[in-house]
Amino acid sequence: MKAPFLPPMSLGLRCLNNFGTARIESSLLYSTKLWCCQTMQRQYDHRKLTATQKYDLVVIGGGSGGLACAKEAAGYGAKVAVLDYVTPSPHGTVWGLGGTCVNVGCIPKKLMHQAALLGKSVKDAAAFGWSVPPAELQLNWHQLVTAVTNHVGSLNWGHRVALRDKRVTYLNASGTLLDRHTVLAKDRKDVETVLQTDNVVLATGGRPRYPTFAGAELAITSDDLFRLRQPPGRTLCVGGSYVSLECAGFLTGLGFDTSVLLRSIPLRGFDQQMAGLVVSAMENLGTRVVRGSEPLRLERTAAGRLRVSLTPSGDGQPPDEEYDTVLLAVGRDPDTRRLGLDALGVTTDPRSGKIVTDPGNRTSVDNIYAIGDIVQGAPELTPTAIVSGRLLADRLYGGSSQLLDLATVPTTVFTPLEYSCVGLSEESAAEMAGGDDQLEVYHAFYRPLEFIIPGRDTSSCYIKAVCERREPQRVLGLHFIGPNAGEVLQGFAVAMRHGMTMESLRQAIGIHPTSAEEVVKLNISKRSGRDPTVTGC
Ligand SMILES: Cc1cc2nc3c(=O)[nH]c(=O)nc-3n(C[C@H](O)[C@H](O)[C@H](O)COP(=O)(O)OP(=O)(O)OC[C@H]3O[C@@H](n4cnc5c(N)ncnc54)[C@H](O)[C@@H]3O)c2cc1C
Repeated sequence: MKAPFLPPMSLGLRCLNNFGTARIESSLLYSTKLWCCQTMQRQYDHRKLTATQKYDLVVIGGGSGGLACAKEAAGYGAKVAVLDYVTPSPHGTVWGLGGTCVNVGCIPKKLMHQAALLGKSVKDAAAFGWSVPPAELQLNWHQLVTAVTNHVGSLNWGHRVALRDKRVTYLNASGTLLDRHTVLAKDRKDVETVLQTDNVVLATGGRPRYPTFAGAELAITSDDLFRLRQPPGRTLCVGGSYVSLECAGFLTGLGFDTSVLLRSIPLRGFDQQMAGLVVSAMENLGTRVVRGSEPLRLERTAAGRLRVSLTPSGDGQPPDEEYDTVLLAVGRDPDTRRLGLDALGVTTDPRSGKIVTDPGNRTSVDNIYAIGDIVQGAPELTPTAIVSGRLLADRLYGGSSQLLDLATVPTTVFTPLEYSCVGLSEESAAEMAGGDDQLEVYHAFYRPLEFIIPGRDTSSCYIKAVCERREPQRVLGLHFIGPNAGEVLQGFAVAMRHGMTMESLRQAIGIHPTSAEEVVKLNISKRSGRDPTVTGC
């Protein structure tokens, strides 16, 4: 159903916004406020309001999911607009088009991870015969940040060009739903545009959570780290999330004295045996891990450092310590506050605040859809956001009925020793299968060839295939810790999607000499009790 034409509405909006009225219930309200608005119009004539524009689809949020959906829909001939607006972080960091992944997520973090790996490789090089400068390697933080920011800038530009090429209208403006067919776009100069649309896709992603302890606002988050003007110095990463561990890992590798503060378990939701190995590899590489504690208070010292008071930990950790930077990575919240969901009756999950959708991404309001990180139960990953955006456009405009299959989504934690997995953790598989005895778990500790000459620690290089016990032993989860873990597991993820079994894995021919071949050589089960350490070639 289309919204009635509402000529006075835009005028009414302008008035209501100037008064700061939070919610607008119906078009009737706009009309009754008309007189008041006409009066206000004279006082607020610095605001410009373009004419109402009409679209087939308005996408709110120009990140991984939103851009993919918009471009795909435009490819079918739909008239599409994308709104993207970045609210500055509490420390004032802002960025361009493309969302979290491009600007403050996957891309800058992988580049910083790579910078850290290179530092380690330079040290390894000496063992392979290179004459490496004898002095301690020094990182130029400013140069690293500039290189990363320049690359991100080129991606921002690429996204703008791609939208233009597809004839998608891009507004660098914040979107709010006024009714199910009307979106108000407001740019940073408060210029407002009203968009009428048949369908709306919400793709506003998430932002880092700020805990409530005193002084938390002095800490930064991953929204700030990749653009810090000054080197972070001695850093405390708060939280056991992958974001916390990844940042702590590359900061350690870049030469900063870095600690991780774990209140409970690391990498919640991941296989816990693997998580333990990831953390122990980090400790071996120099990251200090403080367990069983959380911040009570953060304050700025006279010398400009940050004093962190902690809850007592079992580790005998001093209750107060000083850092140059405290990075909070204790989770992310959906960025839905500005969308006006309550007034429209869009159902959200009371605990997570995420939007509840059906498998086809439809919310409780039938022409409003949601994709990506804001969807309850969806993995918070770029590829799933992209595919779900594309598939939604295919269903809306391309006559498709295909849904996103989340059964075998691979992912990688880019800690110094990377961890990649696809399918179920051992814990979830046991729960699903009805107990440990329904599973057969094959595993191996192996030594990557490139680690041997420089004498790198290999004690966490481990592979595990969690399988059904009954033949043909379908692989339910595959886990790999080692160099280039994501590159190793991507192909196996394809096989998993097609029902890979232990039998098919064993029949595969390995590529020698690689770490990936250790996956196809898995043959020792946990149940056998045999030593899973790989020896020889
Ligand atoms: C540090 C870090 C590392 C990560 N690493 C990886 C990784 O290695 N691999 C991986 O797959 N995933 C990674 N992720 C997760 C990945 O970035 C997200 O899953 C992905 O970006 C989600 O896409 P999205 O489309 O849902 O939202 P986003 O990409 O977050 O885009 C949402 C956009 O909407 C904008 N917006 C919000 N509200 C409004 C509004 N009202 N009006 C207009 N615009 C609005 C936001 O500013 C943002 O630009 C990482 C995340 C972080 C934080």
